Formats: sequence, C-alpha cells, structure tokens
Amino acid sequence: MARTDFGPPHYSTLIPDIIKENYGKWLYHEQIRPGVLKHVSETGAELYTVRVGSPRLASIDFIREICEIADKYSKGHLRFTSRHNIEFLLDDQELVEPLLQELAQRGLPVGGTGHSVSNIVHTQGWVHCHSSATDASGLVKSLMDGLYDYFVENKLPNMVRIAVACCLNMCGAVHCSDIAIVGIHRKPPRIDHEKVSKVSEIPSVIQSCPTGAIKPNPKLKSVDVNPDKCMYCGNCYTVCPAMPIADPENDGVAIFVGGKVSNARTAPKFSRLAIPYLPNNPPRWTETVEAVKHLLEVYAKNALPGERYGEWIERIGWERFFKLTGLPFTEKHIDDFIFAPTTFRTTTQFNW
Ligand code: SF4
Ligand code: SF4
Repeated sequence: MARTDFGPPHYSTLIPDIIKENYGKWLYHEQIRPGVLKHVSETGAELYTVRVGSPRLASIDFIREICEIADKYSKGHLRFTSRHNIEFLLDDQELVEPLLQELAQRGLPVGGTGHSVSNIVHTQGWVHCHSSATDASGLVKSLMDGLYDYFVENKLPNMVRIAVACCLNMCGAVHCSDIAIVGIHRKPPRIDHEKVSKVSEIPSVIQSCPTGAIKPNPKLKSVDVNPDKCMYCGNCYTVCPAMPIADPENDGVAIFVGGKVSNARTAPKFSRLAIPYLPNNPPRWTETVEAVKHLLEVYAKNALPGERYGEWIERIGWERFFKLTGLPFTEKHIDDFIFAPTTFRTTTQFNW
C-alpha cells in the first residue's frame, strides 16, 4: 500500500547538535538582556537564545530573510515559539552581539522575554474565518506597534501574556491570558427563511444552539431565534449559511483580564471581563490599543514586583481594580448566571 501521509520528520533530526548532546542535562537558564537567554548544561555547554518578534503572517521574502540570518549565526537553526516569536539558537557567545547588531540594522525587534509583553497569540479574522467579529491579525499588528516598548524592555512587574480571539469560539488562549481581547457580535443572526431549508438541515441548526434559542418554524420550513436567549455566538451560522451574524455596525471587542496558565505561586486562573465593548475601528483599532495600554500602565504602577495581572487584582480586590482603572462596572460584569433567575448578584467576587 502506498504511503501518502509521511508527517513531519522526527524532531531529533532537526534540533541543533548542542541541544541533542545536552538533552535532559540543562541545569538552569538566565536572561542576559531582554530577548536574550542563556541556558547552561551540567556538561558546561552554553546555549544562547535570541528572541525576535514576528508578524505571524509572514511573507516568503521574510521567511527567506530569517533563514539567511539563521545560516549566518545559528548553523541554519531557528524555531517559532507558540506565540510566533522567532528564536535563533547559538552555541557561540561571540556571535550574539553581531547577531543583535544585524537584527537592529534590519529593523527586527529583540525582546519578549522576562517581565515583558511577548508576541500576542491570536486567531484568524475577517479574511479567514466565517464567524469572526473582529480582525485578529489587523488588531494584533496595531497592538504590537502600540506596545513595542513593552516588548523590547522589561518594565512590567511580571510577564504579561496577551491573546486575541476573533469570536466567542476562542481558538486563541483568551480564557487564561493576563489580557484577553475577544471579538463579539451583539445582535442575533439574520434569517433568510427562503434559504434555510435549502442550505442546511433544520434539526442540525436547532441542535447547534448552546442556549436553545432556535425553534422550528414549520410554516416557513425554517427556524426562528428567540432574541432573549441568543448570546450572539454564531454557532448557528457555522451550520447554516442562511443565518449570517457578522454586523459592521454592532460587532466589536470585549477585553478580559487576570487569567494565567501557570501554576507558579498561585493556581491557574480564568480571565474575567473588564471592558464589555469597544468598537471595531480598523485599520488601527485606536480605542482598543489605548485601552490595553491603560490596563498595562495601571498594572505597572500598582502591582508588586513579581505579581501577575490576576494575582495583583486578587490581592487588591476587583472593586479596587475598577476604581484604579476608572472602568465602569456594569451588569455585564456579573459572570455567574447559574442562579441569575433568582437573584441579580450571585457572584462572590464583588462586595458593593
Ligand atoms: Fe474563527 Fe472564531 Fe476561531 Fe476567530 S476565534 S478563527 S472567528 S472560530
Ligand atoms: Fe443560538 Fe448562538 Fe445562533 Fe444565537 S448566535 S441563535 S445563541 S447558536
């Protein structure tokens, strides 16, 4: 039988010799300067990692450029981190400074390690995905331009991980990021009754709704949506192209804060709502960039050294977070709807 799926080569054939030889023997690592790490092995070997920001959507020319740099300084090796940073791995300390100089000449930013904002993990956007409420790629480009200083310097109390997802499906890591930006729709889907039964199976459409907002409409051989139950998630549009939800007037983003994956010091945390809605404002998303900068500035000014965003908020309390940031607290911030039918305020997170 012919093999058609060969998959990627085994990783051991691709890693630099110094990593292969010291596999499982690394003792510690330290940051020499923002964007440059030194790993030391029990054999005495030293590995230098130089981290560079990338635009994630990379052109062939850009990939050629970074390969050229890797051939010159890191024996042809480089890696992409899960946040789309590019890392050059060097086994010769003498080459670190020349590499940094060449990167500066080429305008490539070095940073994203230590107490910085690293590259933003994000999803697709208007061009790539049917259910997007914002353009993750364009928004992230605007954000990283605005947050450049936070990438190349270590001027925050701890690392800040930012994520963007362009709809509630949240392909990105927005549920557990220090600052998370989520594209949101704010109106129920529009129903083209003529087309619903022609382009989809009505039972599947009804099943697709997580809140049970869709009911059959036998008269029209279509469906109806109960707007009071709809949470504008766009799941129904995924199974029925006759129920588009994207809306240039009402779509926008919400900002969540305080999540983390790490279990260092405190348990992992989910991100929680800080700003319910900001408009889409391409191409530079000024309101969102300013809001994220403000959230960073207040955190940098008030958190203790080493505190992650959510740890700082837990120490001072959410009420004080809203006071310090000047953000309005609204009914949209109440996040526990389990008992919502019987009481308005059900969460224990707020005292006012
Ligand atoms: Fe598509 Fe939503 Fe994922 Fe964005 S977050 S890529 S809109 S499913
Ligand atoms: Fe249901 Fe989501 Fe469609 Fe609203 S948008 S009707 S909640 S599937």
